[in-house]
Order: sequence, then C-alpha cells, then structure tokens
Amino acid sequence: MSDIFFHPLFKDMMNDVVEAGSCCQCGICVLVCPHNVIEYVDGYPKQTAKKTAAFDFCGISEGIGCDVCASACPRLWPREIHLRDAHFGDQRPWEGIFGVYRHVFVARTRREDIMERAQDGGIVTALLSWALESGRIDGAAVSAVGEDDPPCFPSPKLATTESETRGSAGSWYTYCPNNLALWEAEEKDLGKVAFVGVPCQITPLRKMELIDPSFLLSHKKRPQHIEKQRGFLRGYQDRVALQIGLFCTEVFRPELMTEKIEKEMGIPLTEVTKFNVKGDVLIYKKDGEMETLPLQEAMENYQRPECSHCGDFSAELADISCGGAGTRGWTIVVLRTRKAEEIWREFEGSGQIETMPIRENKRAWNILQILARRQRRRVPEGGRRSGTAPGLLQYQPWKEASCAAAGMADSPKTPAELEECLAAAYQEEDRPEQVAGYMAGNPIPGDPGDPPPGEKRKLPPPPAPEQGGAPPGWTPDRTPE
Ligand SMILES: Cc1cc2nc3c(=O)[nH]c(=O)nc-3n(C[C@H](O)[C@H](O)[C@H](O)COP(=O)(O)OP(=O)(O)OC[C@H]3O[C@@H](n4cnc5c(N)ncnc54)[C@H](O)[C@@H]3O)c2cc1C
Ligand code: SF4
Ligand code: SF4
Repeated sequence: MSDIFFHPLFKDMMNDVVEAGSCCQCGICVLVCPHNVIEYVDGYPKQTAKKTAAFDFCGISEGIGCDVCASACPRLWPREIHLRDAHFGDQRPWEGIFGVYRHVFVARTRREDIMERAQDGGIVTALLSWALESGRIDGAAVSAVGEDDPPCFPSPKLATTESETRGSAGSWYTYCPNNLALWEAEEKDLGKVAFVGVPCQITPLRKMELIDPSFLLSHKKRPQHIEKQRGFLRGYQDRVALQIGLFCTEVFRPELMTEKIEKEMGIPLTEVTKFNVKGDVLIYKKDGEMETLPLQEAMENYQRPECSHCGDFSAELADISCGGAGTRGWTIVVLRTRKAEEIWREFEGSGQIETMPIRENKRAWNILQILARRQRRRVPEGGRRSGTAPGLLQYQPWKEASCAAAGMADSPKTPAELEECLAAAYQEEDRPEQVAGYMAGNPIPGDPGDPPPGEKRKLPPPPAPEQGGAPPGWTPDRTPE
C-alpha cells in the first residue's frame, strides 16, 4: 500500500476536484497559495498567473514544487476519516458514527438578546461572545449578511466585537467560504481566532495543522522557498484557537433564494429575517409571519450537487460540533477535544447556559446517528487521490516524512544543506516518529451494521452521563426545569 503515500499536486486538485465537480468552494486553496497563482473566481479556484497556460498548469508546482493548495484541499486524500489517528491519537474516549467525542448533550443560552436571533439554542454565538468578552479569543471567523451584501447572501466576516458576533447569529443556507475571513485575521495580526464553519471548512484547517511539512522538501528548493511555503501551510491555522463545526447535510444553490423564494413564492428577500430547516424549510419574515417550503422540493431542485461528495455530517475534526437536528430551541453540542472540554467547563461556569444530557433528548440522538451514517454512505466511490477509493490508509505523518527522506536520498544537497531545508520545513515543530496503527475501510466505529431484510435498524442507545452523554461535571440536580 506504500503507493498511496503520495502527495496530491495542483494538477490533481484542478482535475480531480474542480473539473470532477466535487469542489466545495471553500477557497482554502486560494488562501494558502504562497505565490499568488490562483484567485477565487465565481466560487472556484482559477489559475490567473499565466493567462495563456492551461487551467491546470502552475509553474511553481511544476518547477521547484509547492502544492500547498492541494495539501489543504478537503476533497483530496487524506479526508476526515483518514485523519483521525493523526488528529486524536489515543485521545478518543468515545467514538460513534458521528466521530470521536468526549461529551454529547444539548444546551441553550440564557441570553435573550442572542436567543432571539440564533438558529437553535444560540450556543455558537453565546460561546463566541463569552470568549471574546473574557479575552479567550480576539476574533471569530463567521458568516453574516452585512450592509454591503445582497439580502440572504452572507459573506465571510471577522467579528472582533461582541455586537459583531451577535450580528452573525443564525444560519444561512447558501455557501459562504468562512475560511477566507482568515485573511483579515492575518492582516490584523490576531493570534487567538475562533473559527465557525461547516464540515468542509473545518477539514482544510485540520489538514493545514496535521499534514507533515516534509512534502515541501525538493532538490530544487532553497531553505527560503521552503520557509515561505511552510508559512502559508501553517500560518493561518496557527491563528485559530478553537474550531467550531456546524452539522451540515447540504447547502442550496443561490436560485433557491432568487428564483423559488423571491420570484415564485413572491417573498422579497429584503423581508426575510431568518431560515431554518425542521422537516420543511421555514422562512421567517419581518412582519412576524412564517412561510414554509417542503424540504423534499428544496433538496430535489436546489441542493448544491457538490455536497453529495461530502461524507462528514457532524464536522468530525472540529473541537466542538453543533447542530439542531431533532431539537427545537436547543443546540446539540459534541465536545471532541480536550481543549473543547476545558473551554466548555469555564463557559458553563459563567452561568450563561442551560444543559441537558442527550438521554433526555433521544430524538436528537437518533437523528444524529441516522444523518451521520447516511452522509458517510452517500459519497461516491472515486480515485485514490480524491480519498474516496476503498481501503485507503490512515494518514501517517511519520510515513510521509520517511517517503520524503527517501526521495531526497540521492539529492545533490550536502547533509548540512539538507538539514537546513528540514529545519525550514519543521522549524520548532516535532518531527514525526510515531506509528499510528489504524486502518481505514474498517467498520465505522459504533455502526450496528445492516439489519436483516425486513427488520428495522437498531440504533445504539444514547450514552449515559458517565459515558460522555452530558456536559463535563454534570450532576442530576442541574437538569433544567
Ligand atoms: C449551511 C448550513 C447547513 C446546516 N445543516 C444542518 C443540518 O442538516 N442539521 C443540523 O442539525 N444542523 C445543521 N446546521 C447547523 C444549525 O443550523 C446551527 O448552526 C447549529 O445548530 C448551531 O445553532 P446555534 O443556535 O447554536 O447557532 P447560532 O448561535 O445561531 O450561530 C450560528 C453560526 O453559524 C454561522 N453560519 C451561518 N450561516 C453559515 C454558513 N452558510 N456557512 C458557515 N457558517 C454559517 C454563523 O457565523 C454563526 O456563527 C447547518 C448550518 C449551516 C450554516
Ligand atoms: S501549487 Fe503552490 S503556487 Fe501553485 S497554485 Fe498551488 S499553492 Fe499556489
Ligand atoms: S481547496 Fe476548496 S475551493 Fe479549492 S479546489 Fe479544494 S474544495 Fe475547491
């Protein structure tokens, strides 16, 4: 299987992702390009450095080598399930169909000024506001419809004040490339940014953190080249202090707004205050009325086709994942990392929120299982580069490093020059040595498998509080009325 330890190239990305129709429009490739070769044009990366060259030609990639863009692209191997070992290591107390977790429960804010705008329990906004006010973060990358945006079409924003975070509450169902807000974080030199995004925006950030930088080594590069490219591979992600992922099955094409809702249903978009999806698409208006559109119709006619290439419903690589499936007025919260657990303890200690064990919201638990499984299974089988071929291995940074070392073995560089290049690639970072032994293609952890024909699928029962089914430190007398 050693042939799968290849590194994807710019050409792979342009052909196997953009041309193949799986590009999710996250824009991360454009953000991390160290040499200004691509731009974000109509939602997709476009090679603009050399107008006469082919769409899949990058002179740097084919010259000294680079491919930072393809390393971060969420639609190329390694994908979410291949990064579990590299990300969680042995820090995975519980593991279910929806990924690794430390705690899963439901929660809502006690703050009315947030609740009135929020999508579900207002937890995402309440957490951002608390973290900003208490100095734990200095900004948050979010989506919001600003004064310069067309109504109902959000754009990426960097919220640096409490009122800006409150202004970003609520979900918009057209795609918004939040990753691009990190440009402003760099410009303002913010070092503790919270990032909010759908799963295909969380995965690239994790790739920027986990991908072994030894792929940057090449016979043709000087240490300065490597240092610059490494800066783009890691730099934006280094500013991210907390990743908050949103559950997501799909986004809709813009025509849902412009053709269906505005033209056909006759609802001016300027009158819409908020959308939600609870069985139907719910359209809330300024006059206090609410109109509905059958979800089936919206999905059949307006779902963005690229979303069918995404198998990650619950943002499996985030620190905290939040969703509203099966709840009304509460947010399902999944704490996945130790960092998330620590922050949550302090946040909860502020007294601003109410929580409830997941056992008391069995409907939410069941829908989470069903949607996570359905999404994992919908991804079409593809090539190895796309990461969707069966039997691909977990991403193992140590293996990538040893492949890079083997590739440099007959380099004309002296050992001292080689060491200088390695130092530029790794800088202060540890160089990987550990073997991560876990095979992809194994059964999904916690998946009860297919039921015999004619029988109903048996879902696992919700975990008890002591098995991670409640917030950290939960005791029964804290259950809300
Ligand atoms: C496109 C999309 C699809 C979703 N699909 C599902 C689903 O199928 N099932 C489910 O259970 N939950 C889904 N969610 C999550 C759900 O809508 C809520 O965001 C979540 O429950 C958190 O609720 P809250 O009240 O705590 O968030 P709030 O406090 O209201 O905060 C919402 C956050 O969402 C961000 N946001 C808004 N629109 C977008 C966007 N288009 N792209 C990226 N970020 C955005 C805002 O910046 C804000 O920080 C989806 C969210 C989005 C954005
Ligand atoms: S290979 Fe490097 S230089 Fe070329 S588009 Fe990708 S990130 Fe930019
Ligand atoms: S990084 Fe994002 S925008 Fe770029 S090609 Fe991949 S999916 Fe598309």
